[in-house]
Amino acid sequence: MNGEFDLIARYFARPAPAGVTGVGDDCALFGVAPGCQVATSTDLLIEGRHFFSNVDPRSLGHKALAVNLSDLAAMGAKPLGCLLGLSLPSVDHGWLQPFAEGFHALARRWGCPLIGGDTTRSTTGIAISVTVFGQVEADKALLRSAALPGDDIWISGTLGAADVALRMLQGSLPTDEPLLKAVRTALELPEPPMELAQGLAGLAHAALDISDGLAQDLGHILEASGCGALLRYADLPCDPALQGLDPDLVRQAVLAGGDVYQLCFTAPIERRAAIEALAGEARVRVTRVGEIQAGAGLKVVDAQGVRIPLEAVGFDHFS
Ligand code: ADP
Ligand code: MG
Repeated sequence: MNGEFDLIARYFARPAPAGVTGVGDDCALFGVAPGCQVATSTDLLIEGRHFFSNVDPRSLGHKALAVNLSDLAAMGAKPLGCLLGLSLPSVDHGWLQPFAEGFHALARRWGCPLIGGDTTRSTTGIAISVTVFGQVEADKALLRSAALPGDDIWISGTLGAADVALRMLQGSLPTDEPLLKAVRTALELPEPPMELAQGLAGLAHAALDISDGLAQDLGHILEASGCGALLRYADLPCDPALQGLDPDLVRQAVLAGGDVYQLCFTAPIERRAAIEALAGEARVRVTRVGEIQAGAGLKVVDAQGVRIPLEAVGFDHFS
């Protein structure tokens, strides 16, 4: 292997779909369906900050794309393609091969081909920058600002597992091997609900992907929409692997745990049946967990209707 071009050819250049110019020219070229807008987003992953140096490279390839696909999902957009910027301290084939496989496998699954990028040598650790492009019908994108009082609040998937895995791997929670085994996939191989998300475009009002914790992320919708919300803690879809753990720890993981890459969305109550049907087709769990209200602020209540203070879940940077 000599140099950057062989590396790109071997690991990243893949045949582009018909009508797309992919890796190999100065720019990639792709079209957008009439009446659609391009949705684009980028995420930077830095070794030591966003991933552990010893993380499985195949999982890392998957996750680098998954966190970006999750942003497309949050807008209700359909993937079109992606770019990969890679900065590597050395050419390590034992790392590159599985990284590329993990990346391309997820890209193929959701029709998001790698169509370009940039590759450089780094003087420190690994840096991975992925940019995605998608399309969404011009008036159907799921904006954070579109929630209305009376909307149901919905969550896709489950909450809490990724946070528990992260704490065990960081050492802030004692490692329990069977539990770690049960929660690790949520952290390392997130599966954003792409099919559900595209169906929600035009059906739901507001949406975002949960990356920094439900309470904080829902707060972004409330702020952008100028609304408040009531969240019923007992209805939140806690990951079953967390059963039996200390309730305070679970509360923290469910309300404030990040790295979820599932959707929190709002929709009018007359759409309940349509949303359930859509989720059934996409084979994704969806749960109604509260409602958007007039006013401001997030109120979380327990099964008895008693308010749970968000400070109690270590919510230091809330408000
Ligand atoms: P330029 O000189 O225009 O920056 P490069 O020599 O960096 O072009 O890249 C050559 C081709 O390979 C371009 O089409 C670029 O998009 C693609 N490419 C470079 N790095 C990557 C990568 N990590 N993944 C996918 N495509 C890449
Ligand atoms: Mg370049």
